[in-house]
Amino acid sequence: METILFLAHTEADGTLAPAALEALGTATSLNTSLANARFIVGLLGENVTPAAQQIASCGAAKFLGVSGADFAPARYASDATAAAALCQAAEATLVVAPATSRFNRCLPGVAQRVGGRADTHVTQVRATADQVSVSRWYYRQRMEGTHTRTQRPWFILVDPGTHPAWTGAAATVAVEPVAVTLEDAAKRTTVTGFRTPAADAQTIRPDASLLLVAGAGWTKKQADGQTHVPEAEQLILDFLRLTRASLGSTKSLVDLGGEGQAVLSFLSHLNQIGQTGATPRHPKGLSTCCHGEEPHTVGWRFINERRAISLDPNCSWARGKADVLYVADAFAVMRKVNELLAA
Ligand SMILES: Cc1cc2nc3c(=O)[nH]c(=O)nc-3n(C[C@H](O)[C@H](O)[C@H](O)COP(=O)(O)OP(=O)(O)OC[C@H]3O[C@@H](n4cnc5c(N)ncnc54)[C@H](O)[C@@H]3O)c2cc1C
Repeated sequence: METILFLAHTEADGTLAPAALEALGTATSLNTSLANARFIVGLLGENVTPAAQQIASCGAAKFLGVSGADFAPARYASDATAAAALCQAAEATLVVAPATSRFNRCLPGVAQRVGGRADTHVTQVRATADQVSVSRWYYRQRMEGTHTRTQRPWFILVDPGTHPAWTGAAATVAVEPVAVTLEDAAKRTTVTGFRTPAADAQTIRPDASLLLVAGAGWTKKQADGQTHVPEAEQLILDFLRLTRASLGSTKSLVDLGGEGQAVLSFLSHLNQIGQTGATPRHPKGLSTCCHGEEPHTVGWRFINERRAISLDPNCSWARGKADVLYVADAFAVMRKVNELLAA
């Protein structure tokens, strides 16, 4: 018999983020598929009551919590101690948790402490009455593998955006406290604050329905023999403002900054899509001024509908990588698109 522990950390306001609700959806469907499973919720954070109330109707047999100011910040030592205590209190055999940066960092270590195994970045969880299997991608998202494990407890960290979020009514629920005493050594790291870009400077939006990719062509000499970087910046920012799309980039464009050339000021290596960049999940993508080479387009693996604008009819997008290729000047196309969007 499996004991499923849904393990989550709360946000600053005490509630659960969408990624946690997606992992909860996975945990509840595991609970439904497996014969005779027990289902327990384990929460950690400064105050876990709002989160417990938010998911009170998820069908858990009990709600365990580690709370207090020591568990507010994302800190390896306190998170790992709390998570291990929750696993032991629940006598968990399967631990389903969101693959947030906070948990990806500490749960593999927790698995080691409690003699278990961990799989991060899980994109699919399947269960028959007596067996669970998980899928994840390997080798920069080029190969997908499915496996099962006999070792328990088994930590399954579900990648955000891969499963539907749990929905249900909020209610009042009692949380059973799990006492955790932290040694001073576990409190050495202090989180002094957060630095986030201003809302309009935040160009990476994982939940956006559209990805706009900017390639190095935006900074190259155009038909008049001149570069037009300020205009390129304005066209891209206007498009992002009008559509709330997420902004991706090619490696060539972000690397240009390091070589002292004029680049779009709001781009960083975090925007890079591809083999050595990110592999985001957006329903649609529009590539502009980009050649569509394989190391870049490998990062488009999960983009369903793809369009590209390039001057070069022989660019790589034309070779089956885009659903539609507009052989056109991206400056002219985006100017017109922005006009239409604004109207
Ligand atoms: C080991 C390795 C790993 C790599 N990893 C990555 C990675 O993770 N991500 C990545 O992106 N790349 C990666 N690369 C680099 C990749 O191979 C390409 O060099 C890069 O993607 C090219 O970027 P680009 O298409 O923006 O630039 P370019 O190849 O310079 O293409 C610019 C394009 O813009 C077009 N253009 C110019 N002006 C206009 C205009 N006005 N309108 C329309 N089109 C215009 C041109 O026709 C051209 O097709 C990697 C390479 C290696 C060797």
